[in-house]
Amino acid sequence: MDTAVKKVVVVGGGFAGLNFAKQLMSNKDFAVTLVDTNNYHFFPPLLYQVASGFIELSNISYPFRRLFQEKENMRFHMGSLVRVNKDNNTIDTTTGTLAYDYLVLALGTETNYFGIENVKQQALPMKTIEDAVNLRNHLLLAMEKAVMTNDPAEKEKLLTIVIAGGGPTGVEIAGMLAEMGHHIGAKEYPEFTGIRSRIYLIDAGPVLLGPMSKVAQAEATKVLGKLGVQIITGVAVKDYADGKVILDNGTAIPTKSLIWTSGVIAREVPGLPEGSTGRGRRILVDAFNKVKGTANIFAIGDICYQDTDPQYPNGHPQLAQVAIQQGKLLAHNLQQFIAKQPIRPFIYVNKGSMAIISKYKAVADLPKFSFKGLLAWFVWLFIHIIPLVGFRNKAKLAFSWFYSFITNNPTLRLIIRPKERIS
Ligand SMILES: Cc1cc2nc3c(=O)[nH]c(=O)nc-3n(C[C@H](O)[C@H](O)[C@H](O)COP(=O)(O)OP(=O)(O)OC[C@H]3O[C@@H](n4cnc5c(N)ncnc54)[C@H](O)[C@@H]3O)c2cc1C
Repeated sequence: MDTAVKKVVVVGGGFAGLNFAKQLMSNKDFAVTLVDTNNYHFFPPLLYQVASGFIELSNISYPFRRLFQEKENMRFHMGSLVRVNKDNNTIDTTTGTLAYDYLVLALGTETNYFGIENVKQQALPMKTIEDAVNLRNHLLLAMEKAVMTNDPAEKEKLLTIVIAGGGPTGVEIAGMLAEMGHHIGAKEYPEFTGIRSRIYLIDAGPVLLGPMSKVAQAEATKVLGKLGVQIITGVAVKDYADGKVILDNGTAIPTKSLIWTSGVIAREVPGLPEGSTGRGRRILVDAFNKVKGTANIFAIGDICYQDTDPQYPNGHPQLAQVAIQQGKLLAHNLQQFIAKQPIRPFIYVNKGSMAIISKYKAVADLPKFSFKGLLAWFVWLFIHIIPLVGFRNKAKLAFSWFYSFITNNPTLRLIIRPKERIS
């Protein structure tokens, strides 16, 4: 057995990178450095609740250094990956160069605007904590501006929200904003008596929640329709110009708020061998998550494309469970490899998918059956508390939900505009 301590650099502390790193904590055979642009891990499935002012951002985020407290073999390096220098086993980051024996790429994905430049410049994405806080500020400011303007057309624009993307994220934010409009609108904005805000949910596919079951699709359409959300399917957003969202059927919707949840593309990693990326820029890996054409570089989670799992010949869905399971298995395999023990190929264990549509209503697709309604809503709450990092976060989130759902009156609608970052 090789007894030298192995330097492992893992780039990205999302579900994949963090679960990988946690498995190697306290294993003295490895010196692990986790690199991330941010100094915290966060939980993307609940971003929409931060964006709508329902929960605090600290409920769903956790500092890496706190996680690594008193773990001698763990280091955190704050910085963004610039390139991989595979011939000399180093990476360049915005804050320095790091050497590795094994490199693990877990940078996830970024918002895909499908080359529509106006949308990229003006739409509101929901991929990071900063996006969620920015969206919250934008929507609250739009309400204040709508109160102040005397121009009816401008008021309508400010009170209209267009959501592009009818997947779980689009459905969840549409439902939450519509419900908050009903519960809070009349209480807090007496200026709008007799004026209704409008929410449009647009998807290019034929139905909402495309990859989910028919039960889930029908329930989402029914519940959102009852909440007054205007659902437009089979039509794509083509442009966002002159304050109007332009659809490919020629319709133009005047609005100041286009929320973009339409798609993702893998983050770019300069320096990998030619031919090592595929569709959606995903990094091609073998059954053990080793990057094509490399000896000691691995990719896990949303950023990788693996077609060796017999149930998923076209690659895995980009979901939290895939990232978590790949992170854990890679850590196990590395330890086995060093100990000259057998390693296992990745096989995804599908635990199902869920979406919350409104208060007390959710949909759940388990591998063998689907269900909806109150039970699905409770299961959704439970499942989204369990994987949160830190007991305090779990307790705080449970309290926030209890307070907000019972009172219909969360108190987090604060417009906070941080100053420019120090460079
Ligand atoms: C709004 C939203 C809702 C979602 N809801 C669900 C859901 O309900 N269920 C579900 O299963 N999945 C859901 N997903 C998908 C799920 O979040 C992803 O599949 C999962 O996060 C992938 O994990 P990952 O570790 O590969 O990437 P990520 O979790 O995206 O982590 C990537 C990490 O890399 C860091 N990073 C990025 N670029 C750099 C760089 N250049 N240098 C250094 N670090 C970098 C980031 O800061 C981040 O910490 C949702 C995603 C979003 C955006």
